[in-house]
Amino acid sequence: MNSGSIEQVLSAGAKAIAEQSKIAPLEAQILLAHLLQKDRAYLYSWPEKILSDEQLKSFQSMIERRQSGEPVAYLTGSKEFWSLPLKVTPDVLIPRPETEQLVQLALDLLPHDACKVADLGTGSGAIALALASERPQWQLTAIDFSSTALEVAQENANGLGLTDQLEFKLGNWCEPLDTPQHAILSNPPYIAKADPHLQKDGLNFEPASALASGADGLDDIRIISETTKDYLVTDGLLLLEHGYQQQAKVIKILESSGYKDVRGYQDDQQQDRFVVAKCPS
Ligand code: GLN
Repeated sequence: MNSGSIEQVLSAGAKAIAEQSKIAPLEAQILLAHLLQKDRAYLYSWPEKILSDEQLKSFQSMIERRQSGEPVAYLTGSKEFWSLPLKVTPDVLIPRPETEQLVQLALDLLPHDACKVADLGTGSGAIALALASERPQWQLTAIDFSSTALEVAQENANGLGLTDQLEFKLGNWCEPLDTPQHAILSNPPYIAKADPHLQKDGLNFEPASALASGADGLDDIRIISETTKDYLVTDGLLLLEHGYQQQAKVIKILESSGYKDVRGYQDDQQQDRFVVAKCPS
């Protein structure tokens, strides 16, 4: 890449990452816009603008990192979730679009008025922040066992002005909760430890503790299922995301823990992806 107009470097950059990405031209634009601190429209408006040597070098190094599989969100340090711009670092899982549907389920199933809701394994804070942004009367508790992840979540809450509704707690799943909740949500790790997918598609850059969970991927869901009952009000809801082939097993786990009305939901790719259950008295 030795020519330096915006148009030329975008085309060279997209070509260089075509193997890593199905949306290489878009990714090249996102990376260059981030580097120039402009929006993508700027790139279309100024195709002939020449990059400085320093800008060219930085762009090249981003493209090389992307070539080695590093996800775009870690290169730009941000990811949009529920239309909220979130900071992400390699200490947190990059929020996925399907998790927005877990948020939607909670919004659909819970009353608008004052509810206490916890997000277990909050990572970047995505679920808790999306809920807070939609329901000003809810009190959210965002929990993570990683203090570095919790710092990212806290920074996101500050940046979005959502701190009044949110409490951040360091700890293992429900343990830090001190009042019964109306709902508990989690996108826990659910990939089997030996799943080769963990080494591919940029997942190897994400925190393993947020992705993998024991031999069948269900260890954490088993723990959550056994422990959340003590932290929910009667008929309080547990809403979980899980792997697309795990739904029957997750339903069984929750039913044998005593949960009622256990129901599976699909994501918008028609994959079984979520389970909602009611806490027994
Ligand atoms: N949905 C993620 C993936 O398969 C996994 C997220 C998780 O383990 N909670 O890439």
